[in-house]
Amino acid sequence: VAAIETQGLSKTYDNGRGCQNVTITVGKGEAFGFLGPNGAGKSTFVKMLVGLISPTSGSASLMGQRIGTLEAKSLIGYLPELYRYQEWLTGQEVVKLHARLSRVESSSIERRVREVLEEVGIGIRSRDKVKHYSKGMQQRLGLACALVADPAIVFLDEPSSAMDPIGRSEVRSILKRLKDQGKTIFLNSHLLEDVEMLCDRMALLNNGVILRHGSVSEVLHKR
Ligand code: ADP
Ligand code: ADP
Repeated sequence: VAAIETQGLSKTYDNGRGCQNVTITVGKGEAFGFLGPNGAGKSTFVKMLVGLISPTSGSASLMGQRIGTLEAKSLIGYLPELYRYQEWLTGQEVVKLHARLSRVESSSIERRVREVLEEVGIGIRSRDKVKHYSKGMQQRLGLACALVADPAIVFLDEPSSAMDPIGRSEVRSILKRLKDQGKTIFLNSHLLEDVEMLCDRMALLNNGVILRHGSVSEVLHKR
């Protein structure tokens, strides 16, 4: 069974925008890139897969579980675009909160939180308040939250947008490591370099529809 499978998945907002008729399959352990300019419909698509908004039509499943169900949601880690963290808390407290919300077993929360903060390179700053974190650190904190429950599939919405080059390369190397660990990754990005460096296959989205999809080299070099 595929990690992600969608059949004609569509969401049309009242204004007619959204994303239309998306059919893709992502295998387990694969990194899939969704490339398109701002407003293409990337966030809309991912919000349907993680169960935040309902499709207008079509269907989709994660590891064979219908999207929107608890079973599907339990498989997911999600890094939203430009998420605002509770900035009066410390990094450690934010991740702990997420661990509780995503039902990490209480006896292993302390260890798991420490582990994942280490993994994203916030270890030594984890007792500082989030309001003192740079954008890059906040994004890595978001990654820690997305990963704390050790999800099978990770959805990343523009993980390196609005970031300086150093922050970007930090986030990229974490994503590479995730891939090497065998996680299934779904990456939304408007940056070609993000998709090229991480993904096996990709789709090119514009105005809510897929223009091309296939292996990264097929899509990018066959014009
Ligand atoms: P992307 O993530 O690729 O930037 P989005 O999925 O955020 O694209 O948006 C796709 C289109 O749908 C855009 O034109 C956006 O303005 C519109 N849109 C997004 N959310 C809503 C909403 N809640 N209501 C109406 N239109 C929306
Ligand atoms: P993105 O950064 O993913 O393109 P936006 O910045 O366009 O998303 O949208 C931020 C929030 O506003 C999202 O929750 C989106 O659903 C909502 N939104 C976007 N466009 C519209 C719109 N035209 N009408 C109403 N809500 C919108």
